[in-house]
Amino acid sequence: MSSTAITNIATLVTNDPSLGDTSPLGKVRDAAVVIDGDRIVWTGESSKAPATDNRVDAGGRAVLPGFVDSHSHLVFAGDRTEEFNARMSGRPYSAGGIRTTVAATRAATDGELEANLTRFLAEALRQGTTTFETKSGYGLTVQDEARALRVAAAHTDEVTYLGAHIVAPEYAEDPAGYVALVTGEMLDACAPHARWIDVFCEKGAFDGDQARAILTAGKAKGLHPRVHANQLSYGPGVQLAVELDAASADHCTHLTDADVDALAQGSTVATLLPGAEFSTRAEWPDARRLLDAGVTVALSTDCNPGSSFTSSVPFCVALAVRDMGMTPDEAVWSATAGGAAALRRTDIGRLTPGARADLTLLDAPSHVHLAYRPGVPLVSGVWRSGVRVV
Ligand SMILES: [Zn+2]
Repeated sequence: MSSTAITNIATLVTNDPSLGDTSPLGKVRDAAVVIDGDRIVWTGESSKAPATDNRVDAGGRAVLPGFVDSHSHLVFAGDRTEEFNARMSGRPYSAGGIRTTVAATRAATDGELEANLTRFLAEALRQGTTTFETKSGYGLTVQDEARALRVAAAHTDEVTYLGAHIVAPEYAEDPAGYVALVTGEMLDACAPHARWIDVFCEKGAFDGDQARAILTAGKAKGLHPRVHANQLSYGPGVQLAVELDAASADHCTHLTDADVDALAQGSTVATLLPGAEFSTRAEWPDARRLLDAGVTVALSTDCNPGSSFTSSVPFCVALAVRDMGMTPDEAVWSATAGGAAALRRTDIGRLTPGARADLTLLDAPSHVHLAYRPGVPLVSGVWRSGVRVV
């Protein structure tokens, strides 16, 4: 293995408060990072950097940890352009939403699903995402859910079984029968390919009792819970997530004070997904309220063909700063260290010795430009596990 120093970094975001300016981002000015193999081995002021085999001059630009996108739905086929166009044009649209994607996904070959996933991952990588979670949920049969997870598991360790996305169309008249399938034969087929289990706890999807049964069955099979909670309306999802020690409660758009208190007292991260509110013209989640209460907040894309068809974490950072009350520092922390916390990972989302060498180089002197220059492709270099991939 050979060592490489990235030097002449104007602003280095380490996410280690013991470094640099001692803020949560642990910002170091005029900094350097040393990579050896797939790990960070040294971080500090450029003038003190140790000798290395190779040197990369960052040219006075900013370096931050690779983004950790802890919530996406990337195993699918087809798109929903017409649905989006109708919604943005104020026209009614009666096709089946998620069901449209379920039909297209079931009809796709393995190769088509794989090609779609690969394309979205390349797109995300170019925008600085070095770790991503993704889910099943567009198969809704034993075979199609297991297939989606197999396809995902070839690309990431962060795979989530979401058989409980909606009740499968075949079970429209028998939701209890579908819950039995999701907690029985489908779980048995899917558990070997997944780390996490998720449920869409929402009116029209699964209620609190169903969600508890599904997540509890998953835990018994060794899967760890995360929950689509309180996206479209108030409901039991957030408090259920905390009760079951879910790693993350995702969306958190409609919260009571009791929900916020539960998140503040538990270890469940609140993952905010502003791409969904943007793409549906919905009310923004109140990040400020959560942060002020002491809740750990993550920011992710929710990339999916229906409600948030963006793979861009920088775009979500800009939305969070502009419309959700986050400072640029908070938003960048939430998209890196926050995402890692939502996946219960300590080896990513930070740039300190021992961490995986996942870095993003911006064509800007500061991470603040992610929000200050929205929509501009600022990511000019990406290292993943110590290898420069962009
Ligand atoms: Zn989602």
